[in-house]
Amino acid sequence: MIEIVDVSKTYGTGNRALRDVNITIGDGEFVFIMGRSGSGKTTLLRLLIKEEEPTSGDVIVNDIMLQKMRRRHIPRYRRTLGIVFQDFRLLNDRNVFENVAFAQRVVGVPLRTIRESVPEMLKLVGLSSKYKAMPQHLSGGEQQRVAIARALINQPEVLLADEPTGNLDHQNAVEIMKLLLDINQMGTTVVVVTHSQEIVEQIGGRVITMDRGRVISDEIKNRSGHED
Ligand code: ADP
Ligand code: MG
Repeated sequence: MIEIVDVSKTYGTGNRALRDVNITIGDGEFVFIMGRSGSGKTTLLRLLIKEEEPTSGDVIVNDIMLQKMRRRHIPRYRRTLGIVFQDFRLLNDRNVFENVAFAQRVVGVPLRTIRESVPEMLKLVGLSSKYKAMPQHLSGGEQQRVAIARALINQPEVLLADEPTGNLDHQNAVEIMKLLLDINQMGTTVVVVTHSQEIVEQIGGRVITMDRGRVISDEIKNRSGHED
């Protein structure tokens, strides 16, 4: 469970990025965090991965208060999270297989396991046939699938995605969102940051809306065109 309790964040520059934010996300949920540019969405994710500290309030993940976590435990904590960015952040001098395998190599997974797990994961994201391709020869949607495969390969409990469809056309964006929904169906908690109202309306579900650092609504939206 993720608990963000009375969190405010003011950067050293004086920018007030978050103001009295309260959000609870249960295990297995799929949640959108929506809001215009500058509303504090990325800051929220950076607090969750302990890349930034709140100015006040608490961030608690699976009963661990992040402010109290020892520095040497941060890498282990981050491995319980999968993270996906708008700009994919792939290793451009390595092929698809190696990009995904790398995340396992760095945590010492044996090669024979990697040889099984990476093809399985590439199949899950629909990229089996591209395992030898270099990132620059893939479409944006395919590159994001590689990034998602990499984020998931070590079986994180939570997947955090910061504008994962921000660089994609609408069709690819919808397909990536469907993939994230499938991943959620398999049990991973998924938190997706987006500024796209269109995407959110198409997918539906729990939508937390931020505006100038505050949560202004937290509601369940029906998928557009569906009544239930
Ligand atoms: P969003 O992801 O919703 O666009 P951000 O969390 O990136 O919003 O930014 C929220 C506010 O905090 C903005 O006013 C932004 O300029 C400011 N901000 C973000 N990161 C920094 C930083 N590293 N230093 C100073 N101000 C920042
Ligand atoms: Mg952002």
